[in-house]
Parts: sequence; structure tokens; C-alpha cells
Amino acid sequence: MAERLRLFVLTGAGISAESGIPVFQGTQWRGHSHYDLANIDTWNRDPKLSWEYYSERRTRGRDAKPNPAHVALAELERSGACERFFLCTQNVDGLHEAAGSQNLVHIHGKIYESRCAQDCGRPAVTDYAVYSADNLPRCECGALMRPNVCLFGEIPFDLDRVFEELGRCNTFLAVGTSGSVQPVAGFVAELKSKPAYVTTIFVGLEEPSNAYYFDEVHLGKASELLPPLMKKLATTPA
Ligand code: NAD
Ligand code: ZN
Repeated sequence: MAERLRLFVLTGAGISAESGIPVFQGTQWRGHSHYDLANIDTWNRDPKLSWEYYSERRTRGRDAKPNPAHVALAELERSGACERFFLCTQNVDGLHEAAGSQNLVHIHGKIYESRCAQDCGRPAVTDYAVYSADNLPRCECGALMRPNVCLFGEIPFDLDRVFEELGRCNTFLAVGTSGSVQPVAGFVAELKSKPAYVTTIFVGLEEPSNAYYFDEVHLGKASELLPPLMKKLATTPA
């Protein structure tokens, strides 16, 4: 008997590009690479620069709206067509929630939250504010607050839950992610190394570095390709 769909979706910066939030690749900020700026070494060396950078990203992303790709994922989840639906996003924007997605984790954190840089135990707080070099935010314990995002050089959040969900899916869909940022780039290879068959599908502008592990590679804009693909997945047995 055909199985019902147990879908694991991994999204990257590409799914939000058409909402006006640029990907990191090929772009810069004040002459610095985003990969250098969004790095733990930059935070440790120069938290003022780091806050200026994240403040500008907060401002740029504030008016962004979900696009048809975010909406298509939320609609599939809501439709009840899946036995399980799980969304793992690397994005720090809130566009999946804004579209109505529910069962999701932000493994790279959330840009509109801040937390204590010394991890004093106080929980992260919602924070849409922007800060300049002379008004950096402080925790009640006296330490600096930092953006609640996973910087390059740090370990992503919620990986235990993510690996548990990976073990349960029968279909894996990656959208708008380059296949070169670890550890997520290794998810698809990990699935293909297991005895249980998992269908693996990629959607993005260009072939990812890990294309070899995908059964289907659909090249194009997420907002155009995802709505018909989600309809197809909803009606085809896994
Ligand atoms: P990435 O590795 O996820 O690469 C982005 C991919 O999206 C590229 O392969 C690109 O070809 C593809 N892409 C671009 N436009 C697309 C479109 N319209 N449709 C489909 N695919 C498209 O991410 P990155 O840019 O190297 O960023 C690294 C990390 O930085 C991310 O994982 C995230 O944590 C953070 N980031 C977040 C945001 C956000 O929250 N929106 C944006 C940029 C970067
Ligand atoms: Zn603190």
C-alpha cells in the first residue's frame, strides 16, 4: 500500500529572496562579506560592528511579506494531506510564521529576538529595535545583549529535534539553499546512506553543491516552482 507523505522541508535564504531579503552569496555590506560579518569572531572582536550590521538587517527585513513559496508550504501543512509535516529553516526572518507555518524550527535563530551574550539564563526576548555603537543593549545581568541568531562558527539550535524528524520522513525537500553551509548540507547524504528509501527533491535557482544526492532537481524561482510542486505532492502517494 502507498505510504502517506511524511515531509521534511529544509529552507534557505533563497526562499525569502523574492520577498526582498537578499541571499548572502555574491553580496556585501560596507565592503565586508556577509559570511565574515555573521561570524562569531566578528561578534567577539567588535560587537558594535556586529550590532550595526544586524540593526540594518532588521530594518531591511521589517516590511518583507511572505511570497507564494512560503504560502505554498503553509497551505500544504494546513491541508492535512501529510501524515507528518516538518519545516527546518535556516532563515532568521519570520516569513514562514507570517505565512502560517506551524511545525517549524529556526536552526539559525531569529533576527527579531535578542538574548544575553553571557547566557545568564534569562530567555531570549522579542526585539525589533536597532542599535548604534553608542547605545548597545544590555541584559539585566549587566552583560551585552546579542542578536538571537546562530553565527558562523557556532552550533545551530534544535539539532536533536531536527535529526529525529529526519529519521521519520519519507520525502525530503530542500528549497533555496546552496548545499554548502554545514551541517544542513549533509542532511540529504545522511538520508541516502540509510536503508529506508527517502525521496529527495531540490528546488532553487542553481544546482546545489550536493546535487548528487537528490532524486529530483528543479531549477528556477521558489515562488514559481513551489506552488505547483506542493499541489503535486499533496495528491501523489509518497
Ligand atoms: P544559502 O546557502 O541558503 O544559499 C542561498 C541559495 O538560494 C543559493 O543557492 C541561491 O542560488 C538560491 N536562490 C537565490 N534566489 C532564489 C530564488 N528566488 N528561488 C530559489 N532559490 C534562490 O544561504 P546564504 O545566502 O549563503 O546564507 C547563509 C545563512 O545566512 C543562511 O543559512 C541564514 O542563516 C542566513 N541568511 C538568512 C536570510 C533570511 O533569513 N532571509 C537571508 C540571508 C542569509
Ligand atoms: Zn544576562
